[in-house]
Amino acid sequence: MKDLLIFMKRFAAPYKWHVVGSVLFNFLTMFFTVFSFAFIMPILRILFNLDTTHYEHMRWEDGDFQDVLINNFYYEVTKLIDLVGPSATLAIMAAFLIVATLLKVMTAYMSDFFVIPLRNGVVTDIRNQMYAKILSLPIGFYTHERKGDIMSRLLGDVGEIEASVAASIAGLVKNPIQIIGYLFVMVVLSWKLTIFVFVLLPVAGWIMGTVGKKLKAKSLEAQNRLGSILSTTEETIGGLRVIKAFNAEKQMERMFEGQTGDYRRLSNAIQRRWSLAHPMSEFLGTIAVCIVLWFGGTLILGGETSIDAPGFIYYMVIFYSIINPAKELSKTSYTLQKGMAALTRIDKILDADNPIKNPEKPVKLPLKIPKGESISFKDVFFSYDGERYVLKDINLDIKPGMTVALVGQSGSGKSTLVDLIPRFWDVSHGKVKVGSNAVEDYKVSDLRSLMGIVNQEPILFNDTFFNNIAFGNPSATLEEVKEAARIANAYDFIMATDREFQTMVGDRGCRLSGGQRQRISIARAVLKNPPILILDEATSALDTESERLVQEALERLMKDRTTIVVAHRLSTIANADLICVLSEGKIVERGTHEELMAMKGVYKNLVEMQKLES
Ligand code: ADP
Ligand code: MG
Repeated sequence: MKDLLIFMKRFAAPYKWHVVGSVLFNFLTMFFTVFSFAFIMPILRILFNLDTTHYEHMRWEDGDFQDVLINNFYYEVTKLIDLVGPSATLAIMAAFLIVATLLKVMTAYMSDFFVIPLRNGVVTDIRNQMYAKILSLPIGFYTHERKGDIMSRLLGDVGEIEASVAASIAGLVKNPIQIIGYLFVMVVLSWKLTIFVFVLLPVAGWIMGTVGKKLKAKSLEAQNRLGSILSTTEETIGGLRVIKAFNAEKQMERMFEGQTGDYRRLSNAIQRRWSLAHPMSEFLGTIAVCIVLWFGGTLILGGETSIDAPGFIYYMVIFYSIINPAKELSKTSYTLQKGMAALTRIDKILDADNPIKNPEKPVKLPLKIPKGESISFKDVFFSYDGERYVLKDINLDIKPGMTVALVGQSGSGKSTLVDLIPRFWDVSHGKVKVGSNAVEDYKVSDLRSLMGIVNQEPILFNDTFFNNIAFGNPSATLEEVKEAARIANAYDFIMATDREFQTMVGDRGCRLSGGQRQRISIARAVLKNPPILILDEATSALDTESERLVQEALERLMKDRTTIVVAHRLSTIANADLICVLSEGKIVERGTHEELMAMKGVYKNLVEMQKLES
């Protein structure tokens, strides 16, 4: 229950008026339920001559308010029976019952009416919060957490909350109100019996509670398993090509079956325990009713005056009515355990700390951004894990408009170095500056608006050419997009498709060749028109023909801008203003192509090795 309160505080606050509405209507429902019966009992007693008292009209001064009210009600009833006859009185009573029931179901509907938007709203909010968090977390977060696992939290765990907590909310409002209402009536009818019931109920509740204990831990475990199942599925679809090529289908199947098998065993245990709740509560409920029946009946048979036989029957009706909400409430506490387990996993994402923070007083970007910006690295050290430095003592000054090339063996830290500029990672020591300020002094979104990034693997979305090029630039016109496509050498092949710029590119651009995909992502960078351009092996994955087209496009794009090119093929960077050679995280040589060749060092070796290859 404590969990639930925390949950409601966190998520239900925007819906407090819905809660109020629901509570209100639940009270009304309860009122109509209890009182429709309360009216009928005495009428029946008089009608069937169980009660032969002769009632006289009383004035308010004649006694207690309650006594006078009851007396006058009975008096009116006897008068009515005398007047219209018992049969007509029964008909009136039936009509009254119909009206009371109508009111009851209407108010019950209204209470649901208010609770439904609350329930769906809470789930939608959690989902949106998760998605926003996934977007905001730095790239680094996703190297620790597998994609499928995160998907399973977004889909599975939120679904679990939807099915458990959210679905329980209605009952959580309704059942306690009903229980309180019924208990109140029971106390009014006979406090002695009710005290007895009060002793009984907690005992039953305690027995039920012990069953629920283990459920939370097991549910958590089960959700984790589901996460790895999704992870495997994801990886399998992504890596299908490799799996088939290496004939690893059987191996993957065995692994997957191992995971689903674990999940099945856990699910069996959880669901069995969960199913136990229902028969157990029913059995306990019946035992309770029997005990009360015996105890109350004995009281009356022994001449107890505070409650008479019809009153006792009414008491039993109410007591029986209390069992259902009590049962549901106890069932809810199981469901809640499951939901809370899911919430714990969701919180691991929601509470994840984002180390890439905006500064408190960010530097404003100038209104007119220069076409090229300077970039500088001063004594930069960087480590992914806090142990091994991947970049060491990097000092580099890049003047506006300059083209700087980074070369070096795979794993020497080139990508890491350029990732520091848009703050995909923060430096461990030292400073990276863009313009005259450190990168940490800008708002992250401002900083990134200054740069266009083209990677080795172009990332396209399953959308049209137009939307892929205009991505992140929603105000772009068709003319602008076309112009960008022309500069990127993408115009012709786009126009050759049947729907031109409205053609879908397929999932991740699977309907395009590597070179075409790359030219689309270059067009995207062209459209952004940034002062800084980062090209991380933009042409490495391409064959010579498409490389020529892409290279042409890139050279047009690089004009006047500050550009950092990471290049695998050295022929593409011969005209760079400065070439830096990285080796094991250090800049070991720097200079122009001619200077470096004259140095006869690492660079010359690299160039000669590539000559041999081609
Ligand atoms: P390059 O781009 O020059 O091939 P990288 O900058 O990608 O090299 O990698 C430099 C080093 O950092 C490599 O040793 C690599 O294993 C390591 N590395 C790269 N990315 C990560 C990461 N996300 N987490 C931990 N280590 C990484
Ligand atoms: Mg790289």
